[in-house]
Amino acid sequence: MQEVVTVEDLEAWLRRFAGLVSEQRAYLTELDSAIGDGDHGINMDRGLRAVCDKLDETSPARADELFKLVGMSLISNVGGASGPLYGTFFLRLGSACGGTGAVPLATLAKAFDAGVGGVVERGRPELGDKTMFDSLHPALLALDEAVAEGQCAEAAFLHARDAAMRGRDATISMVARKGRASYLGDRSAGHQDPGATSAALLFEAAAVVFAAKA
Ligand code: ADP
Ligand code: MG
Repeated sequence: MQEVVTVEDLEAWLRRFAGLVSEQRAYLTELDSAIGDGDHGINMDRGLRAVCDKLDETSPARADELFKLVGMSLISNVGGASGPLYGTFFLRLGSACGGTGAVPLATLAKAFDAGVGGVVERGRPELGDKTMFDSLHPALLALDEAVAEGQCAEAAFLHARDAAMRGRDATISMVARKGRASYLGDRSAGHQDPGATSAALLFEAAAVVFAAKA
């Protein structure tokens, strides 16, 4: 039988992502201080707190409703470059999951494709530009591959997390070609990208939540 991911699992994933960002808020901000304007941790934490506050008031029963709530809250509360990018990611993710409370794992993997596609449309990042896309893209490939091989959610998201972390680490040596960090030119090399770092937390949160469930 095809494994399904429930809307409760998806909410647990988002809350865990919010928890990790909150714990690493100072670190994310420090990374952004080196090559940006020092607000990434503050921005993301503010947005994800707003998401959790909304989820405390109402628990959406459908994946599309859940991710719409997340995307809209992030767009309204994060600001900067990353707010609309993460917001678009979640809005597209939700539309592709559809109006269901139980998303087949293969559909969820396809929905991640759609979400990352939204980031690409909005920000036009290419691989090697030193952005969140440098961790999102390899994570997505690993997720797709694992799901195509018939792996369970736990294993698939562990692979995706490892790929996201490698992608994040690879941003250190890159010269930024998008976003504020690109204003620094060659001086952006030697620093880890803050958006690639928060994006890796998205997959770390999923790996933790699905491992706890297995
Ligand atoms: P701002 O740069 O406006 O202060 P944040 O600090 O919240 O916004 O987010 C910065 C992160 O956004 C960067 O580390 C990078 O990963 C990501 N980013 C910036 N521009 C783009 C883009 N065009 N495409 C994809 N990601 C981007
Ligand atoms: Mg910033």
